[in-house]
Amino acid sequence: MKYYDKLIFELSKPGRAAYTLPDNGCPKANIPAGLMRTEPAVLPEVTEVDVARHYTALSQMNFGVDTGFYPLGSCTMKYNPKINEEIAAMPAFQGLHPLQPADTVQGALEVYYEMDKALSTITGMKRFTLNPCAGAHGELTGLMVIRSYHMSRGDLARTKIIVPDSAHGTNPASAAVCGLEIVEVKSGANGLVDVESLKPLLGPDIAGIMMTNPNTLGLFEKDIREIAELVHGCGGLLYYDGANMNPLLGMVRPGDMGFDVMHINLHKTFSTPHGGGGPGSGPVGVCEKLAGFLPAPRVEKLPDGRFTVVRSAETAAGQVSAFMGNFGVIVRAYAYILMLGRQGIKLAGKYATLAANYIKESLKDAYKLPIPSVCKHEFVYDGLIDDGSATGKPGATTLDVAKRLLDYGYHAPTIYFPLLFHQALMIEPTETESKETLDEFIDVMHKIAREAAEDPDILHCAPHLAPIGRPDETAAARNPILKFD
Ligand SMILES: *Cc1c(COP(=O)(O)O)cnc(C)c1O
Repeated sequence: MKYYDKLIFELSKPGRAAYTLPDNGCPKANIPAGLMRTEPAVLPEVTEVDVARHYTALSQMNFGVDTGFYPLGSCTMKYNPKINEEIAAMPAFQGLHPLQPADTVQGALEVYYEMDKALSTITGMKRFTLNPCAGAHGELTGLMVIRSYHMSRGDLARTKIIVPDSAHGTNPASAAVCGLEIVEVKSGANGLVDVESLKPLLGPDIAGIMMTNPNTLGLFEKDIREIAELVHGCGGLLYYDGANMNPLLGMVRPGDMGFDVMHINLHKTFSTPHGGGGPGSGPVGVCEKLAGFLPAPRVEKLPDGRFTVVRSAETAAGQVSAFMGNFGVIVRAYAYILMLGRQGIKLAGKYATLAANYIKESLKDAYKLPIPSVCKHEFVYDGLIDDGSATGKPGATTLDVAKRLLDYGYHAPTIYFPLLFHQALMIEPTETESKETLDEFIDVMHKIAREAAEDPDILHCAPHLAPIGRPDETAAARNPILKFD
């Protein structure tokens, strides 16, 4: 029996327990009858060894950056250095209460303040708030700053925001939550925002444009200077989605490209855990003229060198999170920045770019590469070159390739995103993988391509080695059964 085949409730046998407590000698509490249970609670009765094996087995079913290569595009699943965890777990950080008086938390406030400075230096922005708790939360905060700015000038007609068709799905979603109307701008055949398609969209109703650069195809928007001039020229502002800023680190700064507002994901670019290992953090940076629109609370440095918390929410964007965001995440990311230093940060971006281009070039004989130019940290294939349909069987799809990768011990890349291609397979290796790991992945991707060409059915019914095969994803999403009945 595999210990994950059964639920902990199914392992239960009456009378078994994982603990023994001595009789504490206390008299029975006098609880009113109306408050007493009439039936015993339904709890699993299992031995300690059953508990240990069951949960250890469950933990081993999990896949994470600590267990294998995780090339999930647009998600930047880079290794989380353990020193970050150690530092964040120090009692001096972990034992803090968000309402402690400022003079008892000077060290923590200094970390907060210095992180604002570090991010401003890296991005060319004037000032950051570290309050938002995710990338999308940062987007909403940044857009609120943009709206507040226009409204403060009595410019009330600017209710539309331009979003490229290659944008991450959170961009239009955050804009809609912020009450803005989304206007889509098309990408050209080269995968970049098409300046000629942009021009007619600009006018007095445009609040700004949201851009990702390098964009979601991993391509650097080389017309960014011209785009910035055009958008500023019509009175709009430029929002930069810096969730995956790693390839730019130490090389180019959004502030220098003309962006006014941006967010950055500490849980992507700066190596802090995400997903189940979260929580996240999406700091928002702004240029000088927008600094007064950032939300409260903020940390300020007093002339005597001490730090204080400005809690007033009288800034136009008010307050966006409880207290000051996910401080433990900020500490981890700050440790990472200090560990790398100026030179190391620059190298991280270069290695991320090198690793992505290495895989991209190595597999283009087997996977369709719709945009062949040099990519930054990630790139997109559009399915297999030979999907095996010549065998007379239905061809293997991107979903099949992703499922087959699980059999070989890899997490799947991002699939069917961005929406620009029908069989999108988006790979992001990050800078933390060795050449050996990249080579092994390339070998496996070639092996899968050969399997597809020879017998696509091998892929259709993958994964063969995972604890479960292919669940009905629609049913699982629409009708999830999340509790033991
Ligand atoms: C991940 C990501 C986001 C959203 O970040 P969350 O922390 O998941 O909310 C936004 N934009 C891009 C480009 C991303 O990759």
